[in-house]
Amino acid sequence: MKKIGLFPGSFDPFTKGHELIVKKSIKIFDEIIIGIGINNSKEYLFDLQKRIKHINSLFEDQSNVKISEFNSLTVNFCKKIDATHIIRGLRNCNDFEYEKTIAQMNKNISGIETLFFLTDEKYESINSSLIREIYKHNGPIEKFVTNAHHLV
Ligand code: ADP
Repeated sequence: MKKIGLFPGSFDPFTKGHELIVKKSIKIFDEIIIGIGINNSKEYLFDLQKRIKHINSLFEDQSNVKISEFNSLTVNFCKKIDATHIIRGLRNCNDFEYEKTIAQMNKNISGIETLFFLTDEKYESINSSLIREIYKHNGPIEKFVTNAHHLV
């Protein structure tokens, strides 16, 4: 049976840090689903179609990396796509504290474990919300986002 991992997030936008987490996790799973979580009460800078197009451009040569959107509970989406694990990335202690609570709650309600990958040092300060600020003020985001032109 294929081992599937779900990497969920807002990916507004999908950064080199997110890309690294997919590269690390695909060594362990047969298939990674990048799940773009849609929260109707949240405003996004990059619309869903642009985010999908952008992420597709990064993994078009990798048939074991797929992209999907979902607006249900993450653990329910895992069950729907037969993912055994949720995958998340960690940059620092703040990420750890935040992620730990969510992971424990997810485990509690569904039995699904979360697997964490540490980011590499050079990506530690890459953060989608800072990139949105840079983008809004016409700053350069190409350093932090591969194929950034697909977001325009
Ligand atoms: P969410 O809105 O669910 O927090 P994000 O798109 O901000 O979604 O992040 C998705 C996942 O990627 C989270 O686990 C986050 O900690 C991780 N992540 C964000 N930036 C980086 C980075 N630079 N390096 C590694 N992981 C990262």
